[in-house]
Amino acid sequence: MASIATPPQRTGLLVIQPLKKRHCAECRTGPLALLVLEEGLPRCLDCADLGHLVFLPRGDTALTRRSREGSALSAVVVRFNRRRSRYERQGVLVEETALARAEKRCLADAEARRRRRVRDARRREAEDLRFTDTFAREIRRLFPGCPADRAQTIAAHASVRGSGRVGRSAAGRALSEAAVTAAVRASVRHTDTPYDQLLMSGVPRHEARRRIAGAVDTTLRGWHAGRAPT
Ligand SMILES: [Zn+2]
Repeated sequence: MASIATPPQRTGLLVIQPLKKRHCAECRTGPLALLVLEEGLPRCLDCADLGHLVFLPRGDTALTRRSREGSALSAVVVRFNRRRSRYERQGVLVEETALARAEKRCLADAEARRRRRVRDARRREAEDLRFTDTFAREIRRLFPGCPADRAQTIAAHASVRGSGRVGRSAAGRALSEAAVTAAVRASVRHTDTPYDQLLMSGVPRHEARRRIAGAVDTTLRGWHAGRAPT
């Protein structure tokens, strides 16, 4: 039987997925899906004493590493890539018990990650709520005449965009007097003036802003002075 081009020497046992039909040099079974080269001659996994191992395709790094660590005997499976003229790793052969243990540990890790994501989401939600409350309080401090539910609505809207999610410094910037005033101004513009209708009817934005500027200022001044809107 002709020998097969010898793959590059690697540490550990090497198992080959042959491109051609090969039979075991010892027991003659074949064609072999996987073989081991011993002195240039193919042997089936049973004859090579690797028949009890299971194939784990490449792709899951953690699972592969843990399976190999847990296996007293393991092998790397390679296949020759003609186009690239080199052997490429296809996966590993590991002990089934080691694979099962590794799968269990990886699942536990995935579950741990899932739980951490849930905790993170809850914490962000709490941060968003705190941010909204702080923002609403700041609105009421600067504009005592702004109705409480209105301040809450404006704050909730602002926290969707610039909440604790974007970090402490950004949240701090979002709570500056200028930023809070801008949020209130935008709300008044859209809610208490015909600004949106003007835009919808084709009035250019700057012209629309000019037309409603007086009404916005009046409302803001009133809220600032602690007066409810008229
Ligand atoms: Zn054999």
